[in-house]
Amino acid sequence: MAELSYGTLVSRAIRLRCPRCGIGPLFKNFITMHERCPQCSLKYERAPGYFLGSAYVNYGFMAITTTSMYMGLHYGAEISNETLTVPLLVYCIAMPLILFRYARAWWLAMDCYCDPTSFGLHSDPSPKPASNTPKT
Ligand SMILES: [Zn+2]
Repeated sequence: MAELSYGTLVSRAIRLRCPRCGIGPLFKNFITMHERCPQCSLKYERAPGYFLGSAYVNYGFMAITTTSMYMGLHYGAEISNETLTVPLLVYCIAMPLILFRYARAWWLAMDCYCDPTSFGLHSDPSPKPASNTPKT
């Protein structure tokens, strides 16, 4: 099986599909993931705590967007802190819940992109011909 392009893997992550086959869904419902892909049997949680990294992705996205919105709205649009507190607090609570599934899907896709051999996407190199061995 050939390696997949970055665009293909991101597309599958956005659609919450298996990074290997692109057909099997990642989630049973809003929160619960399938243990394996129903289509190709790829194990999604590759090790205990595998998806901890996706929490960092989610946190990083939230920190950057919240800070950017605050800076733009407070210093750019000159909206007071009292007015911004509630909308930004709602954003900080709601967005991680919405992004939870996409952060996991993106984390799995990027792992697949960085290490395609462990996903069965890149076949092992064929054995070298015996011509390199010294003749006796
Ligand atoms: Zn699959």
